[in-house]
Amino acid sequence: RTVYVNGEYLPEEDAKISIFDRGFLMADGVYEVTSVLDGKLVDFDGHVKRLARSLNELGMGEPLTADELLEIHRKLVAENEVINGGVYLQITRGAPADRDFAFPPEDTPQTVVLFTQNKPDLAESPAAARGIKVISIEDIRWGRRDIKTVQLLYPSMGKMMAKAAGCDDAWMVEDGAVTEGTSNNAYIIKDGKIITRQLSNDILHGITRAAVLEFAREAQMKVEERPFTIEEAQQADEAFITSATTFVTPVVEIDGVTVGAGEPGPAAKRLRELYIEGSRAAAV
Ligand code: PLP
Repeated sequence: RTVYVNGEYLPEEDAKISIFDRGFLMADGVYEVTSVLDGKLVDFDGHVKRLARSLNELGMGEPLTADELLEIHRKLVAENEVINGGVYLQITRGAPADRDFAFPPEDTPQTVVLFTQNKPDLAESPAAARGIKVISIEDIRWGRRDIKTVQLLYPSMGKMMAKAAGCDDAWMVEDGAVTEGTSNNAYIIKDGKIITRQLSNDILHGITRAAVLEFAREAQMKVEERPFTIEEAQQADEAFITSATTFVTPVVEIDGVTVGAGEPGPAAKRLRELYIEGSRAAAV
């Protein structure tokens, strides 16, 4: 693969960053993942806007403009012949001269890394066709989950706990209510109404979430943004997750309890189609 590191396009084996990089030492960095469908970038504007917000919330400047970022994304997609998959982007606070808790001087260059990932056609996902199983785990992450930082150890452990239980993912629970999945936003559907937790510092403001809720409202589906419990989810008619890499994926089992008919339901299927159709048409 050709990757991008600090202004250069290089073969992946030649790409190098400092061992003092704060991304490596302190998880002091942010990231975005933009999906590629038919060679085009899905929801690109949304990802770039959230990146700017994450950087600002951490007092980091924006090293590249939206146009520059688009050019880099497109160049990597073309160079690596990505038809389906995604582009990973990470920006860290850079590499100071030595390890220190205090931030380095403002003029320390940030580290910017981008690489592509080839994946099977995301629109034809077997997981979406059969529906996924989730377990619930306690949400013990820090209090600024709205910032897309590279501190992914707990979500990563959550995925492993799910796998150990024979499931696909974990929904995290705080004060009795579901916050989100390890790497996705969580939803239930009851009596035709889509219910998902409201935006706050407690969850990542999913770009797919924003798009899906807009498509839902355009299709006259009712949306209620509020917390819900695992018990409520187990008794819902349907459940699903959204993320840039899973689009809309139905959830058919929660902590061993079947949701609805135990197979992908009509509303989640419809939302998946609306999202794929709409974002394919708007992809850049
Ligand atoms: N919530 C968390 C914790 C995530 O890590 C992600 C994506 O990686 C999402 C939600 C979904 O966000 P998006 O739709 O922007 O991919």
